[in-house]
Amino acid sequence: MDKLTVIVPCYNEEEVLPVFYQEVKKVLDRMEGTETELLFIDDGSKDNTLKILRMLDTCDERCRYIAFSRNFGKEAAMYAGLEQAKGDYCVIMDADLQHPPALLPEMYRAVKQEGFDCCAGFRKDRNGEGCIRSFLSKAFYKVIQKMSHMNMEDGAGDFRMMSRKMVDSILACKEYNRYMKGIFTFVGFDTKWIPFENVERAAGKTKWGFKSLFRYALDGIFSFSTTPITIAAVAGVLLFVLSLVYGIGTGIHTLIFGNKVSGYTTIVCLILFLNGIQLLVISVLGEYISKNYMESKGRPIYIVKESSKGSA
Ligand code: UDP
Ligand code: MG
Repeated sequence: MDKLTVIVPCYNEEEVLPVFYQEVKKVLDRMEGTETELLFIDDGSKDNTLKILRMLDTCDERCRYIAFSRNFGKEAAMYAGLEQAKGDYCVIMDADLQHPPALLPEMYRAVKQEGFDCCAGFRKDRNGEGCIRSFLSKAFYKVIQKMSHMNMEDGAGDFRMMSRKMVDSILACKEYNRYMKGIFTFVGFDTKWIPFENVERAAGKTKWGFKSLFRYALDGIFSFSTTPITIAAVAGVLLFVLSLVYGIGTGIHTLIFGNKVSGYTTIVCLILFLNGIQLLVISVLGEYISKNYMESKGRPIYIVKESSKGSA
């Protein structure tokens, strides 16, 4: 019999966890030929999430949990889940029921019978999401596709079932700065896409504000692309050429018409413009250096505070 691990990162999900458990249990009970385990990762929640997880662990032998010593972020939670999962197949699901459990049987069929290593949910639309957030997200995916030369599409999220082979490949990517959407694309493997409608979370609040989404977007770009450095180099060359042309032009003008002292505004504008570009380029370099700095420390991706029996 195949073992299927459902990995659920949870951060302050007390309101939705009981509903999630009931809904997923209904679907898992109907899936024949599989032995399932529900692996919850408590990402340093400050509400009663951990209490609920301890209860689930005692009531249902299929449930396990790992609790982090603080909030390490969803990326770390997913990594911990994959690392601790015992299943031949693993699926990552949000706790808020935005990832429909009804798709699980179809996903299992794809990886078990249809020869795929991965079956991923594809969110068809962004209904119920604010229009500014939706616009910015779409723009971000266009930029990252161009910059990283990898197919990271809007709508392709973390909701996916994977074979042991793919899970092990993901675990082999041990970087500290994790951007899972990029890692899924990086490891490759044949993926089947199943579209689903976006629904609002069943209860509770989203953990992502504009600031954290913006940081996440920048992390994605700097983790998977060095194009910003290339853009800086191209800007440098263009400015050099421009200054040559301007210099020669001014030289000729002076030879013909003489030198009237003027150009105060031009000089001020140029200084501001060039200093601005220099600072921008330095900050781009700084982003890469700081990423490298964090990597070189070799700190653990997550730290476990407690767990149910049988996990780390
Ligand atoms: N999550 C987490 N750690 C965090 C933030 C979120 O484990 O620091 C979990 C959260 O509990 C949920 C999933 O990641 O199960 C998706 O979070 P959320 O629904 O807030 O994101 P959204 O769907 O709005 O993108
Ligand atoms: Mg959500």
